Amino acid sequence: MPEQFMKRVIKKNAGEVEFCQAVREVVESVMPFVKKHPEYQKAKILERMAEPERVIMFRVPWIDDKGEVQINRGYRIEMNSAIGPYKGGLRFHPSVNLSILKFLAFEQVFKNSLTTLPMGGGKGGSDFDPKGKSDNEVMRFCQSFMTELQRHIGPDTDIPAGDIGVGAREIGFLFGQYKRLRNEFTGVLTGKGLNWGGSLIRPEATGYGCVYFAQEMLKTQYESIEGKICAISGSGNVAQYTAEKLIQLGAKPVTLSDSHGYIYDKHGLDTEKLEFVKELKNVKRGRIKEYAKKYGCEYFEGRYPWKIKCDIAFPSATQNEIDEGDAKQLVKNGCICVAEGANMPTAPEAIKIFQKAKILYGPGKAANAGGVATSGLEMSQNSERLSWSREDVEEKLHQIMIKIHEQCVKYGKDDNYIDYVKGANIGGFVKVADAMIDQGVV
Ligand code: NDP
Repeated sequence: MPEQFMKRVIKKNAGEVEFCQAVREVVESVMPFVKKHPEYQKAKILERMAEPERVIMFRVPWIDDKGEVQINRGYRIEMNSAIGPYKGGLRFHPSVNLSILKFLAFEQVFKNSLTTLPMGGGKGGSDFDPKGKSDNEVMRFCQSFMTELQRHIGPDTDIPAGDIGVGAREIGFLFGQYKRLRNEFTGVLTGKGLNWGGSLIRPEATGYGCVYFAQEMLKTQYESIEGKICAISGSGNVAQYTAEKLIQLGAKPVTLSDSHGYIYDKHGLDTEKLEFVKELKNVKRGRIKEYAKKYGCEYFEGRYPWKIKCDIAFPSATQNEIDEGDAKQLVKNGCICVAEGANMPTAPEAIKIFQKAKILYGPGKAANAGGVATSGLEMSQNSERLSWSREDVEEKLHQIMIKIHEQCVKYGKDDNYIDYVKGANIGGFVKVADAMIDQGVV
C-alpha cells in the first residue's frame, strides 16, 4: 500500500527526489495508522496532504554592483492551511529548487502541528546566493523578491521567516520593502529585529530547542547532557545556538563546519571561542577554517564531522548530510543520540542504521521545531503589540519542546524503543487530518 501510494507520488512529481523522500518517510510510518482510521482513508487525507494548496514561482530581476542585470527564480510553496495561516522560512541558496522547497514545506506542516500552535505549513526562497555579494546587492535582490512576494503573503495569510541564507540582514531588507509597498506595519515576517517587532530568543530558538529536545530524549534513558561530547555540523544560526546551549549546560561541543569543511577542537568550544565564531560568520561572513588557524586545532577540507568520536550528534547544516557510512561510523564510535537541527539531514538508509542500533534518533520535524514555535510566539506578541521578557519566551520554548517530546513518545513508543520518526509523523498528522475533515473537501 505505501508502495502504490509512492508510485503515484513519484509519477506526479517526476524528478523531485527530496520531495518524494520526505513524503515516503511520512507515508511509511503514518499509513498503518491511517488504515486503522477509515475516515482518513475515505477523505483521502494523505493524498491531499501530498499536494500543495498553491505553488507560486516568479522571476526576480536585480542589478549587481557592476550594473549588470541578474535574474534569479523565486518561490513560495503554500502547502497546507488547515490549522492556521501558512508559516515557514525562506531559503536563499544556489541549490534551491522546487523539489527542495516542496520537501521543506511538507515537513513544515507536521512540524508546525507538533508545536501545538495554530500554524499551517509553507516554505519559499530563491536560488540566489548571498555569499560573496555586497550588502547593497543583497538589499536590491531582497527588494525585488519582495516586490512580487508581497501580493501573496500577509499577517493572517502567509508569514515567512528565515532559513539558510536568510538571517537578520535579509529579513530587515524584506520587511522594509513590504512596508513600503503595502503601507502597513504588520507581523508579516518573523525573525524581525528587536526594535521593530522581533521576539527575544527567536535567534536562539532552533538551537536551544534542539538541545532541550535532546535532553528529553536522554532522560528516557536516565542520561544527562552534562559532560557529553557533541559533534555539530554547520556554523550558522542553528549550529551557533546549539553550541551556546550545550556550553551553558556543561556539555562539550567539539566540531563545527561550513560548506568548505569542518574544524575539530578536542578541548571543546567555550563562550569566548563561540563569540569568535559569531563574529566570523555573522559579521565578517568568513570561513570556519579561520577558527582552526586562530585556536590551533584540526581542520578537514570538504567533509562533514561524522568520523569524530562523540556521544551526541547535532546535524545542523543541510539535507542528506549523514549517509549510511556516516551513520555506521557514528554508531561504531559510541554515539547514543542524534538530534536534528537541520531539516532531513539524515538519508533514509542512515535512519535505518540508527533505529536498528536502537540509539535515540530525533528527526528534525520534532527536534528543530523550537524555531517555528518561537516564530509563533513572535506572532502572538505582534498581535498583542507587546514584547515578552527573555525568561518568559525561553520558558515557553522549553515547555513546547517538552510537549513535542511527549507527543513523540505517545505515538512512537513500542515495547522498549521510542520510534521518534513514527511518533512525530503521527503526532503531527492527527491534528491536521482532523481539521481537514472538519473543513470538508477543500
Ligand atoms: P545558516 O545559513 O545560518 O547556516 C547554514 C550552515 O550550514 C552554514 O554553516 C553553511 O555553510 C552550512 N551549509 C549550508 N548548505 C550546505 C551544504 N549544501 N553543504 C555543507 N554545508 C552547508 O542556516 P540555518 O542555521 O538557519 O539552517 C541550518 C539548517 O537548519 C537548515 O537545514 C534549515 O532548514 C534548518 N532549520 C533552520 C531553522 C532556523 O530557525 N534558522 C529552523 C528549523 C530548521 P556556509 O556558511 O559555507 O554556507
